[in-house]
Amino acid sequence: MTARKLLVVGNGMAAGRVLETLFETAPGAYDVTVFNAEPRVNYNRIMLSPVLSGEKTYEDILIHDDAWYAANGVDLRKGARVDAVDTAAKTVTTADGTVHGYDKLLIATGSGPVIIPLPGHRLPGVVTYRDLDDVDAMVAAARAGGRAVVIGGGLLGLEAAAGLKARGMDVTVLHLMPTLMERQLDPAGGYLLQRAIEDRGIEVICKANTEAILGTDRVEGVRLADGREIACTLVVMAVGIRPATALAKAAGIAVARGVVVDDQMRTSAADVLAVGECVEHRGACYGLVAPLYEMAKVAAKTLLGEAAAYEGSVTSTKLKVTGIDVFSAGDFAEGEGRQEIVYRAPGVYKRLVLKDDRLIGAVLYGDTADGGWFFDLLRGGTEVAAMRDTLIFGPAFAGAAPLDPTAAVAALPDDAQVCGCNGVCKGTIVKAITDKGLTGLDDVRAHTKASASCGSCTPLVEKLLVATLGGAYAAAAVPPMCKCTDLGHDEVRRLIVAKELKSIPAVMQELGWKTSCGCAKCRPALNYYLLCDWPGEYEDDQQSRFVNERVHANIQKDGTYSVVPRMWGGLTTPDELRAIADVADKFKIPTVKVTGGQRIDLLGVKKEDLPAVWADLGKAGMISGAAYAKGLRTVKTCVGSEWCRFGTQDSTGLGVKLEKMMWGSWSPAKVKLGVSGCPRNCAEATCKDIGIVCVDAGYEIHYAGAAGMHVKQTEVLTLVATEAEAMEIVAALTQLYREQGRYLERIYKWAARVGGDSIRAAVVDDLDKRRHYAARFHHSQRFAQVDPWAERVGGRHAHEFAPMAALGIGEAAE
Ligand SMILES: Cc1cc2nc3c(=O)[nH]c(=O)nc-3n(C[C@H](O)[C@H](O)[C@H](O)COP(=O)(O)OP(=O)(O)OC[C@H]3O[C@@H](n4cnc5c(N)ncnc54)[C@H](O)[C@@H]3O)c2cc1C
Ligand code: SF4
Repeated sequence: MTARKLLVVGNGMAAGRVLETLFETAPGAYDVTVFNAEPRVNYNRIMLSPVLSGEKTYEDILIHDDAWYAANGVDLRKGARVDAVDTAAKTVTTADGTVHGYDKLLIATGSGPVIIPLPGHRLPGVVTYRDLDDVDAMVAAARAGGRAVVIGGGLLGLEAAAGLKARGMDVTVLHLMPTLMERQLDPAGGYLLQRAIEDRGIEVICKANTEAILGTDRVEGVRLADGREIACTLVVMAVGIRPATALAKAAGIAVARGVVVDDQMRTSAADVLAVGECVEHRGACYGLVAPLYEMAKVAAKTLLGEAAAYEGSVTSTKLKVTGIDVFSAGDFAEGEGRQEIVYRAPGVYKRLVLKDDRLIGAVLYGDTADGGWFFDLLRGGTEVAAMRDTLIFGPAFAGAAPLDPTAAVAALPDDAQVCGCNGVCKGTIVKAITDKGLTGLDDVRAHTKASASCGSCTPLVEKLLVATLGGAYAAAAVPPMCKCTDLGHDEVRRLIVAKELKSIPAVMQELGWKTSCGCAKCRPALNYYLLCDWPGEYEDDQQSRFVNERVHANIQKDGTYSVVPRMWGGLTTPDELRAIADVADKFKIPTVKVTGGQRIDLLGVKKEDLPAVWADLGKAGMISGAAYAKGLRTVKTCVGSEWCRFGTQDSTGLGVKLEKMMWGSWSPAKVKLGVSGCPRNCAEATCKDIGIVCVDAGYEIHYAGAAGMHVKQTEVLTLVATEAEAMEIVAALTQLYREQGRYLERIYKWAARVGGDSIRAAVVDDLDKRRHYAARFHHSQRFAQVDPWAERVGGRHAHEFAPMAALGIGEAAE
């Protein structure tokens, strides 16, 4: 019987594995011709990165050499692109016009790189990263030196960047998202990865939106949307892949994102199969080799008429950059009914995601040795309830009796490093505790230096104290910020500054957070602390804010919003009032109300109308009144000496100046001011967070009042003679509060905690200190005074205003 004719289009890793299986199982069953657009044999595409970096050669990564094709009687047509398939006539036509008939056709065309059609994308010097020709082009470019810009901080982009760096180029990676490899890694893993990439001398710019590739005859640079330009001689576009489906589509074969196949890898056309990255199976397309190999086995069996089914794959990823260990598998997004186990140590981050007592996702950074074991548990759907407590420590502990965290720490080997900063091992600490009779954390710090620097190993050291001393050890009672950490607010703040931590993932990693992404308690607090401590460097994280602060309006009980424009010192104008009236009419706003903070509240605004309402108010010169903010709300004033016969000073004018100085500032909790023109106190300044009561001799500065759930009269801070002094002290006081206040702690609570004497010493008695605090406040205001309404009218965070009821924690408007 003559062998049937099998034509294969594409000679990548998937097609190669189909042929291997076919020849192993039934040699001679088919007479095989392979058409490959690439002018070469089948090679291990995933090893292109070591070729690029110079660690391997092309010859090292061959899968099938010419002799293999000859030995198996394969007619390999190198550099032969198939241009058309006729499924009725059962033929293919190659680029040179020759027509070949088939009994069975296997489409294995893989993927093509996505090319963003930026201005300049066709310039010489712009390359993609898919095949050996791309590697050759990069190696040639690297010989000339200079800077390479890699667009895309995913797996391919980072491997390209590391390879080019190894070839001697300066390299910048531009990544659109906030963290690298965000599809495979959560923000904590992405943070560590970025640090490791940067440690290699590769520049990484996240949230980088590339606008254009610059150059006339060839690449000269790249411009970002924010106007930054980066000069370079090479641009590598590594922004994703797209299944190569054009051939199948033109032939009338069903194509969705990829060529649609069933569980037997059959396409919609009779006798046409497809495998590899070009296919879509049960709605999924794959970009990694393991699933393609599973498909290949099934395709080979289908070709031989044997029963087999491919049922989809769970994938795992590793980054192939020498010295950077990254592993990720499954689904690690947060979600309903999911729990996570997190382990952090210096340079190490491990996170397991469980659902229904089964592992569904894993992210490992720095120590990936157990990746394979976790992956097996994940794929096998193994019940892990019995080993849950020790799961994160890997197979060494599997099957052991469930351990409590203290026992798990006790079970660590003596040479396990506990304090990364000072290189102190578990054995040293335990020995010091027993030999020297240490009983507390401070003793351990003094004798071993463990936990004495950054403090992130404090929980571990405490567990060692518990494990060694048992009931004899009583931990110091510092209430932790939340369940995600054992550290208190003050310690976290101290470490943010001391360790120069400038992002939420950095804080969580370096301070050993017990959860991957924090919770509703710690995220907003960290976001505030970072904003306060790194003005101009840290970018506000919208996702760490409650709904009111995200949408810059207060949500009401019916799901609509209230809008309060700023009225400086309670002053308004006929034009502003007309604009407010027009907005109320135009958007059918049901209630317009004067607030206790001397402004006008538009109540009942639909979420989707917010940007348009703000646009109209903005045209009349009004900005957000921040009636939702943990920041400056209002400055209530009386009419003062301008109008009132009792007025001693221009209280309205001072109120306006204070509000202009302080608007936009974020603080631990809301801040309200009042300025009264005389002790009759019509602006009720003596129940505000900061109040000024004008007197004949000048300005009496009050603080720490409250008039909410708690009512408290202010305390007098000092009396000053001039407006300028009053403003300087208010700025310094606000900044001191911003730096010392715990998130959600109002000024009166902060003052009670730290004591009035210390506050007075810092902002009244010591002029230098006062000036420093005031200067820090003004510096921070340079970045804070951006009207959020105007930004959103300009399209920022437009997704927030989609019509849906996203309820969060509400707050009273004023
Ligand atoms: C740099 C790099 C690193 C990678 N690293 C990893 C990794 O670490 N782990 C992992 O699992 N995966 C990795 N991958 C992905 C992996 O290489 C792919 O999943 C795999 O190679 C896809 O195999 P394939 O056979 O479907 O397609 P391909 O290997 O792309 O082969 C398709 C072939 O078909 C040819 N072709 C296309 N159209 C036609 C036509 N009309 N006529 C003739 N020939 C045609 C193409 O030229 C190509 O040679 C990496 C990929 C790259 C580029
Ligand atoms: S506080 Fe004094 S100055 Fe101000 S309005 Fe009242 S009486 Fe007049």
